[in-house]
Amino acid sequence: MSETMQSQASAANEAIQDPAPRISPAPVTSVLLMRGLEGFDKWETEATIRELNGEDEEAIASLTSKEGLVYSDYMSALLKRAVVSIGNIDVQQNPSVVENLIIGDRDLLFVGAMKATYGRYRELECTCGNCGSTNFVTLNLDEDFKFERPTQDITKPIEVELRNGTTIKVNYPTGGDSAYVAKKAKTIAEQNTMMIARCTAWDADVPMEEKEHWAKNLGVSDRNKLVRALTSNPPGPKMEEVKTQCAKCQEDLIIVMDWVSLLFG
Ligand SMILES: [Zn+2]
Repeated sequence: MSETMQSQASAANEAIQDPAPRISPAPVTSVLLMRGLEGFDKWETEATIRELNGEDEEAIASLTSKEGLVYSDYMSALLKRAVVSIGNIDVQQNPSVVENLIIGDRDLLFVGAMKATYGRYRELECTCGNCGSTNFVTLNLDEDFKFERPTQDITKPIEVELRNGTTIKVNYPTGGDSAYVAKKAKTIAEQNTMMIARCTAWDADVPMEEKEHWAKNLGVSDRNKLVRALTSNPPGPKMEEVKTQCAKCQEDLIIVMDWVSLLFG
C-alpha cells in the first residue's frame, strides 16, 4: 500500500469511527475594510459578502476567454458577485463601486469570499519544480494572509514633498486606477505617468490629459518619489507567494498566489 493510500485509508477509518456528526461552522460573511468607501457622512467599512456558488464560478471562468481583460477586471467581476454590501451601500444595486475600493480592501474582500466559500482551509494542488511530484498544499486563509492593519488614517491622502518644496497629495490606488493603467500604458514609464496622474488629489476637476501632461513634466526624482509613495508597502494582505516544502523531495515549494489559483486551484 502506498503512503498516500494508507493515509487516505486511515482518514476514512477515522471518519467512520468518529460517532459525532461533523457540522461545518456557518461561513463568516463579514469583512472589516481598511479604508472602505466614502458614504454620505462617513467612510463605510463594514462589508457583507456571500459564498460563491457554481454559477459564479462559471461566470468568472468564462471571462478568461475574453481578450483585453486585465487582473483588476477579474477581481472586479468576482467582487461584484461576492460583495453584498459595504455599510449602507448596496453593491448589488451599484456594482461599479467595487472599482473605487483601494487594492488592499479588494484583496481583503477576495480572501473573505474565499473563506466564505471554502472555509478557513483551502487545499491546492501544485507540482514541485524540482522532482515533478504532485503536492496537496493546505493554505490557512487566516494565517497565510495575515496582515497588520494600518495605524495611520488611510482615508487621508499621502503627502509627498517634491524637490522644489511643494507638497503633493496622493490617494492610494483603487481597482479602477489599476485597471486603467494596466490597459492603457505600454511601458513602465507610461504606467508611472498614468498612476501619478490618476492618484494625485486635484482640487478642481482637471481633464485626464492635462493631469498626464503635468505628470510627464515632473522631474524623474519627483516621479520616483511619488511612485514609491503609491506602491511601496501598500496596506492590505500580501497576495504574492506562500512558501512550503515538497512532501517528496523536501525542496522549497513556492506557490505564487493569485486569485485564479485560489479560486479554481
Ligand atoms: Zn519535490
